Amino acid sequence: MTSDLRVLHAAAECFPLAKTGGLGDVAGALPAALRTLGCDARVALPAYRGVARSLGRVEPLSSHEINGIRYTVLRGALADGLPVYLFDAPLLFDRAGGPYADESQQPYADNALRFGTFSAALAAFVAQGAAGFDPQILHLHDWQTALAAPWLAAAPRRPALIFTIHNLAYQGQFGREAFETLGLPLEWWSPEALEFWGGFSCMKGGLNYADLITTVSPTYAREIQTPAFGCGLDGLLATRADRLIGIVNGIDTAIWNPATDLHLVRHYDSRTVEAGKQANRLAVSSTLGLTPPTRGQTLPLVVFIGRLADQKGADLLLAAQDELMQLPLQLAVLASGDPKLEAAFRDWAGRAPAGRLAVRLAHDEVLAHQLTAAADLLVMPSRFEPCGLNQMYAQRYGTIPVVHRTGGLADTVVEARGGSPAAEEGSGVLFDHADVDGLLWGLRRGLEFCADQQLRKRLRRQGMARDFSWSASAQQYRESYTRVLSSRRDSSSC
Ligand code: ADP
Repeated sequence: MTSDLRVLHAAAECFPLAKTGGLGDVAGALPAALRTLGCDARVALPAYRGVARSLGRVEPLSSHEINGIRYTVLRGALADGLPVYLFDAPLLFDRAGGPYADESQQPYADNALRFGTFSAALAAFVAQGAAGFDPQILHLHDWQTALAAPWLAAAPRRPALIFTIHNLAYQGQFGREAFETLGLPLEWWSPEALEFWGGFSCMKGGLNYADLITTVSPTYAREIQTPAFGCGLDGLLATRADRLIGIVNGIDTAIWNPATDLHLVRHYDSRTVEAGKQANRLAVSSTLGLTPPTRGQTLPLVVFIGRLADQKGADLLLAAQDELMQLPLQLAVLASGDPKLEAAFRDWAGRAPAGRLAVRLAHDEVLAHQLTAAADLLVMPSRFEPCGLNQMYAQRYGTIPVVHRTGGLADTVVEARGGSPAAEEGSGVLFDHADVDGLLWGLRRGLEFCADQQLRKRLRRQGMARDFSWSASAQQYRESYTRVLSSRRDSSSC
């Protein structure tokens, strides 16, 4: 490998070692894609329980202490060769639950200490030369790593600092006690540094001290500079607009490939999409107890897959349930999260007409693949969506996305006009308002598209022809690294 650029990514998740959502996918896939572009990209993350073991061979590099917490830096590699640094602090990370919450989904009470210490340890690791790796770029992802930026900002010799916002709604906000426990310098307790509404925000460390801020779609980059989407940080982001860019995430096109997907009963590509989807629909109908499709009179299958959180707008499906059951459709929901929303979906499933609604309240990776293949329409009524992945998986599987025109959804779904085939490149439906009327308008339009067999076929193929692989996004990241390095060189030579 000709390694012209050394980049260390730091994140609280990295697929396949630790993942709760899109962050894990990005922190696994982006460094791998950068390596195929010739960068020497590596990853740093906490050694959660079992992570070191799942890497196979790991080598201890050095041991340290911060905030009275002892930790060891370990080095290993993923199967594809991606080098991984693990911050092994058993007191903080060797726990039975997930990265942020215990087994009953309660956030750990010491998350400020866990990730504040991880960030300080990252800064120390890089300042000391990162065990001979000496990155030119330290790419920090989300609030769990953000405090590394202020720790490093004043260092005499430091890498360029890139900070990526995956979701501005999760900022790592804590109080004065956590600030003191972490031993943060007193001058950081100011609005120009970390202070935020009587507490402090880890996210602000990334926003105020990074050389470049990125987020996961151009539309979200614009939206977060407005009060409606800025979560109280829109003013700060607007002042840093010259250093803020949006780069859309890619997807793992090997795992999400209908021609090879191990979870499907029938593989298909764009030539065989009609028969392929029909076979998968039949199988999923029987798994979920939906009325099976019959020749000539098949109701389109609409699916929703996602977290049950306010962001995702699943409550709009509940609010529109009577109207939805009047439409010619079947609905399948695969979701988990907010217990109140789970109860409401359970209740609806108990009352809905037989064979029309299937609700699975679980996180089920296999069923997610099967539903994406079987569906005619995938609905995403997200109130905001930094990037979103499901709408890209859907298009790759010939499923027409019906999405709220926001964030990454607006950037990755091309509006189908249903007009003349020659001029048409669209692959989905975008609706303007994340409310019941907007949702119903979008679904009615999607159902009209499905009712026209030729149009449906064309939209399926147009979606499947689109390129959502990581290579284009990784190229954009690489270019932005190069730009930041050259502007730092220019300013230091002034
Ligand atoms: P976010 O990170 O905000 O949850 P993304 O769309 O970026 O949303 O990524 C979510 C990922 O998790 C997608 O791959 C989606 O398919 C998957 N997912 C969400 N909920 C479920 C579920 N209940 N079962 C299976 N997969 C799910």
